[in-house]
Amino acid sequence: MRQTHPHGANAREDHDIKQVQAVLMDIYHRMYATFGDRRWWPAETAEEVVIDAILVQSVAWSNVVKAIDCLRQRGLLSLEALHAAPLEVVAECVVPTRYYRAKAQKLKAFAAHVHERHDGSLERMFEQDTETLREELLSVYGIGPETADDILLYAAGKPSFVIDAYTKRIFSRLGLIDERIGYEPLRAWFMRHLPADVALYNNYHALIDAIGHHFCSVRRPACTSCPLRAVCRHASSQAAEAQPAG
Ligand code: SF4
Repeated sequence: MRQTHPHGANAREDHDIKQVQAVLMDIYHRMYATFGDRRWWPAETAEEVVIDAILVQSVAWSNVVKAIDCLRQRGLLSLEALHAAPLEVVAECVVPTRYYRAKAQKLKAFAAHVHERHDGSLERMFEQDTETLREELLSVYGIGPETADDILLYAAGKPSFVIDAYTKRIFSRLGLIDERIGYEPLRAWFMRHLPADVALYNNYHALIDAIGHHFCSVRRPACTSCPLRAVCRHASSQAAEAQPAG
């Protein structure tokens, strides 16, 4: 009679995790060979990262830079200054970031939260463990999962993988995920298969952003020059279609 090993299921699961991890690390090294260490996030302080992460929702980075310059010139580039400033003054500065009134409200809501719950200290707020802090961030007005994970990873230095539209597009085209997968399951998938390493998560997301920006556009992905072409299902199917018949 065949015996089932008591640890059979676990051993198989470990094996599967290692296999996917090897695939994800291979992808990482291919991207790294082209773009190297992206040194994200390009901000001087953790407070600035938080402000950037709120402002960058639905706009290009160049718009954020304009708003940040204005906030800096007016002495508003800190949570306490944002908390004290009138909404209209903050809104004026963040006009380049679209939905500027809502963005100003979000900045002020975050600043008020840190002021009231943590005496205005981000460091104190960030002392919590990753999942507790994530829950708290998600409870603040205007903070969705991507913004929360940006703050966790790039401001608090916690191992929380960031998902964005590029991540879904690239990994579904690679043939590794279903393009309809939701934010939370996809974040959980990356975190199950990669070691909880802040530096790795930091640069992995930054490299995905670089691939999305330079190669993997919605309509015309530049597969022939993309560093991931050798492991990409979309690229190989495009190449097969381009072969002359017969
Ligand atoms: S090879 Fe093409 S489809 Fe695949 S990730 Fe690169 S640009 Fe996107």
